Amino acid sequence: GVALYPSDGQEVDALLQHSGAARTRAREATGSSYHFYTADMHDRVIDRLNTEVALYRGLERGEFELHYQPKVDLRTGQVMGVEALLRWNRPGMGLQMPDQFIDILEQTGLIMDAGDWVLREACAAIRSMPLSLAVNISPRQFMHPNLADRLMRMLDDIQFPADRLELEITEQIVVEDEERAIATLHDLASRGIRVALDDYGTGFSSLQRLKRLPLHTLKIDKYFVISLVTSKADAAIVRSTIDLCHQLDINVVAEGVEDDVVMEMLRGYGCDVAQGYGICRPLAMGRLTEWMASSTVASLSGRHTFRPIR
Ligand code: C2E
Ligand code: MG
Ligand code: MG
Repeated sequence: GVALYPSDGQEVDALLQHSGAARTRAREATGSSYHFYTADMHDRVIDRLNTEVALYRGLERGEFELHYQPKVDLRTGQVMGVEALLRWNRPGMGLQMPDQFIDILEQTGLIMDAGDWVLREACAAIRSMPLSLAVNISPRQFMHPNLADRLMRMLDDIQFPADRLELEITEQIVVEDEERAIATLHDLASRGIRVALDDYGTGFSSLQRLKRLPLHTLKIDKYFVISLVTSKADAAIVRSTIDLCHQLDINVVAEGVEDDVVMEMLRGYGCDVAQGYGICRPLAMGRLTEWMASSTVASLSGRHTFRPIR
């Protein structure tokens, strides 16, 4: 990491700090062994530090909220559950989406507190509704010792039945320590907590792994679902993934269902559940109950159509 006197700093401290930022950048880049300091590098470091501090504060001050995205049973046309998705009301910056802060929560370890909050908040909110609840669990949360024990205590506290909760994990958790992950999955299953493999098809999806993991549900990534109509190859992948999962007694959720044509194709393939903007966007609790009330009327009339909220 290279910083130059006097243009990058007048003092030793500033030069060291700036060359440190340049070194971090050099380490991130592949095929390059050195990097010169630039002013935007400094901005990035400062941005990141500010975000970390704001996240600490945000957790303390209750700046997080959950949105819920409905999932529809493709056989009955009824809403069977919701996925809880985290949002952050960052003061002065508006509503932040997970891709702007989840990684930082994970890297700083703040995800442990944030994740506990998500679970408690979502279970309490959904408890009185006739719905299952899916919650995303990060690798760090999943690998934390005694996950199942801590979950059972929380569920007991809130009086939320374990079999209505589904944890969404990614293949990331299996990559580090597969044996330990499998043991944890068995532990969860023995308590009646279901587990879904999220974003299937985007990572190092291995059939060997699919066979070994005790999973209840597999979520086909939106990347494949969105291009169902335009890509013969993606249609073939989705279709055979559904068949394979059914042979293994695994339920299939397709995410990223943006229109009726895709929904009908999935129904034809025997897919169990659909989720996507074409059915409903993630909504705050107040709007979710409104939407549920109006969509039940539509499905009772036999049309099984959902008024999309865009
Ligand atoms: P995910 O679990 O795969 O969630 C689905 C994402 O796809 C959501 O984005 C959702 O809004 C979006 N989506 C839903 N339907 C459609 C569609 O029809 N088309 C398109 N293009 N996108 C659709 P979101 O809310 O921005 O969440 C992004 C990711 O952040 C999630 O991906 C999940 O990995 C992570 N995340 C969200 N909430 C939490 C949380 O509480 N804890 C943890 N650890 N991760 C979370
Ligand atoms: Mg998910
Ligand atoms: Mg996903």
